[in-house]
Amino acid sequence: MTPQCFLWIIGEHIRFLSSETERKPVDKITLTENELSAWVEAHRGEIIETTREFLRIPSVGGEAAPGAPFGAETRQALDFALALAESHGLTIKNLDGYAAHTEYAASGVSAEAPIVGALAHVDVVPPGTGWSHPPFGAELADGKIYARGVLDDKGPAMAALWAILALKANAVPLTRRVRLILGANEESGFECVKHYFAHEEMPVTGFTPDAMFPLVYAEKGIANAVLTRAAPPEGERIHVVSLSGGERPNMVPDTAVAVILSPAPWAAIVARLNAVVGISTEEIEGGGRLKITAKGVSAHGSTPNAGVNAIGVLCDALLLLDHHEDQVLLVQQIHTWAGDTAGSSLGIDGQDEVTGPLTCNLGLAALGDGQAVLTFNIRYPVTWNSEDLRSCLTTGIANSGWTLESLTDQPPLYVPLDDPLVTTLLEVYRAETGDQTPPMTMGGGTYARAMTSGVAFGPEFHDKDPNDGGPHEKDECWPVDHLIRATKIYAKALARLASE
Ligand SMILES: [Zn+2]
Repeated sequence: MTPQCFLWIIGEHIRFLSSETERKPVDKITLTENELSAWVEAHRGEIIETTREFLRIPSVGGEAAPGAPFGAETRQALDFALALAESHGLTIKNLDGYAAHTEYAASGVSAEAPIVGALAHVDVVPPGTGWSHPPFGAELADGKIYARGVLDDKGPAMAALWAILALKANAVPLTRRVRLILGANEESGFECVKHYFAHEEMPVTGFTPDAMFPLVYAEKGIANAVLTRAAPPEGERIHVVSLSGGERPNMVPDTAVAVILSPAPWAAIVARLNAVVGISTEEIEGGGRLKITAKGVSAHGSTPNAGVNAIGVLCDALLLLDHHEDQVLLVQQIHTWAGDTAGSSLGIDGQDEVTGPLTCNLGLAALGDGQAVLTFNIRYPVTWNSEDLRSCLTTGIANSGWTLESLTDQPPLYVPLDDPLVTTLLEVYRAETGDQTPPMTMGGGTYARAMTSGVAFGPEFHDKDPNDGGPHEKDECWPVDHLIRATKIYAKALARLASE
């Protein structure tokens, strides 16, 4: 899960479960589901203890070692989960330490039957500082397990594993295979699933327990567009020698810096610049050059409106100075783009009913050595594709003097609300919790994108304590009752999806 999940909950577009949903005879489902719940309750202690043991493996991605492309600890975490699965009679497969799976085929289910998948990851982000419990101690306090990864994503991975064990132990009759796929590199590149799906079959349907309940059915497309142009040469007036801002395309830059040269003395310029909010100046190289630093407010790239783009602040200040005309045009253009989070000045603004408006974040700017390079992080509506975006963008910048250098794309994820995957998961979730929160859409990306037809389903519940540490935060924790509740939900959901 990304550290911040910014949601658009679009209530008016939600269609609730309808009677069209095909159901199995209710009495049979209820019977099976009661058995699954009772089994999970009976194994409560074991579920909690194995989860805690799993969490004590500090599986932060690290240096590659033989059989462990993302570090020995991520491999150790994969091995732990596989050993647990195997000890309960599930089949297992390790794909060179990149990823692994464990599979259950009910009696009579062929080895070629379609696969229902749960996709989770065993790698975690570094714990950071400020914890009140050791991040890899998996201590129990106030009914909660405290550990890095308990929500993201090792706790839910264990819930999904125990869910499959519940299906096996109760000999639930199924028609499809059920597979838990575990990746070891979700937090830093998705190489795990790229490797996995290059060698293994794609599940026909499934979920990833790596966001929140009830479920996320639509995630915007994520594109990075790089625009370039030549920078104007030095003239007689003030000259911007270099300009740089931002660290990553998917963050709103909170700092941007320019270095300028001036034929006139600095005093008047400095006074003018220092009057601008967010700007500070410093003479460098013995007073030969002036360094201008702009401060903005950082935010996630999917919500650029929540931040203040430091590149825009810097351009504001630069526009107060007496530049050569070509340079003014260049700075004005960057200024416009930095402030336009809807993308209209790039010709790409638009929206759809599912995920709302496109957002655009000027995440990186670099000017120097005669060239200017800008990188935009664009979250486009799910009903578009990257070719739509490319053609709008190419037209939008046609007369600007800028060239589209590259456009990388993570396509949107969209499973319609009336898809059986969504209706089934929602029905199970609502029956278990009584919570009627509508399904969600996001501008951020979840692990579900790795599947052709999957949604993010849990693990965070609506009734979590808002003061609890979340994914990527200090004191990440999960109530044991939520772990058990998630296990029941996953068992019932997998049972239904695998008996279609
Ligand atoms: Zn995650």
